[in-house]
Amino acid sequence: MKVIGLLGGIGSGKSTVAREFARRGCPVIDADAIGHELLDAEPHRTRLVETFGEEIIGAEGRVDRRALADRAFASAEAAATLNGILHPPIRRRCLEEIDRCRARGRGPAIVLDAPLLVEAGLAEACDVLVFVDCDRRRRVQRWARGDPHRTAALEKRENFQISLDMKRQMADYVVGNNSGLSAITEQVARILSAL
Ligand code: ATP
Repeated sequence: MKVIGLLGGIGSGKSTVAREFARRGCPVIDADAIGHELLDAEPHRTRLVETFGEEIIGAEGRVDRRALADRAFASAEAAATLNGILHPPIRRRCLEEIDRCRARGRGPAIVLDAPLLVEAGLAEACDVLVFVDCDRRRRVQRWARGDPHRTAALEKRENFQISLDMKRQMADYVVGNNSGLSAITEQVARILSAL
């Protein structure tokens, strides 16, 4: 079973494209969800608190993602530290999930929806890379929905990532997501039939 890795800018529509693959029977591995789970798992939680302070713990005693993001995306160095803590376990869990999906053997392909696929060293685990292309204005509209805090977060986080041009160059396929959802349906169908 081939592994399809999704690449793209923040809010480009990777999860939306992943859902379309899922609708066509592909198991989807959601690295974002895995990352969220790992925040409160040891030893990562302790390392995060030691690095970014007790202030990242929210009222219910769990890591508060917004408070963590405010600190971790304050500088390139802090972002690299966060990635150093979380990327290795996220990578391990994704590789385990890929093995599990392969063993089950159900579906036309396995889809890896990992926002920092390249940065986390997961591109090597993929047979095919798909870049989800969406212009900045739409990404700000769709992802930040007019919230200035989220718009600033998008800008900041993207500065610490590999450039979109480079991700586009690495890709085997591009899914254009500057129009409606029906365009995604057709493009995903085409990729699956090409595979
Ligand atoms: P992240 O970088 O946070 O992982 P993402 O690349 O996975 O984001 P999505 O969550 O799929 O992006 O999409 C961002 C937002 O844009 C969502 O609210 C989604 O519903 C919306 N969206 C995506 N594609 C379209 C589209 N073609 N038309 C309208 N809205 C869209």
